[in-house]
Amino acid sequence: MIQLGFWPASGPEFHSMKRLVSHESLAHVGHLRNVLEQSGIACVVRNEQLSGGLGEIPFLECLPELWVLRDEDLARAQVLIRDMENAEARRGPWRCRRCGESNEGQFAACWQCGAADESG
Ligand SMILES: [Zn+2]
Repeated sequence: MIQLGFWPASGPEFHSMKRLVSHESLAHVGHLRNVLEQSGIACVVRNEQLSGGLGEIPFLECLPELWVLRDEDLARAQVLIRDMENAEARRGPWRCRRCGESNEGQFAACWQCGAADESG
């Protein structure tokens, strides 16, 4: 039985966390986290263990979520996310030439192996 509330939400380091996005795809949320961390923005993924196949839990409550740890990073993180969403709107999914992994359109580099998308 998986319990809700496993996350130590009351810990002092999580006191001021802000939820940035939620998305049905854990791979998507994980990629956003990678991009933000590469920009020096500390963030964590919540609900990554809860997604999928849990009929008893309301769907919206078990979507993977990305949380920014520091208030001062929130605005910059939102800009980065928006830029990626804009890029996603312009492109479709693409397949990595190095490892063959399928990537969502907003990813400029393969989430699997890090190779840059050279198709466009
Ligand atoms: Zn790849």
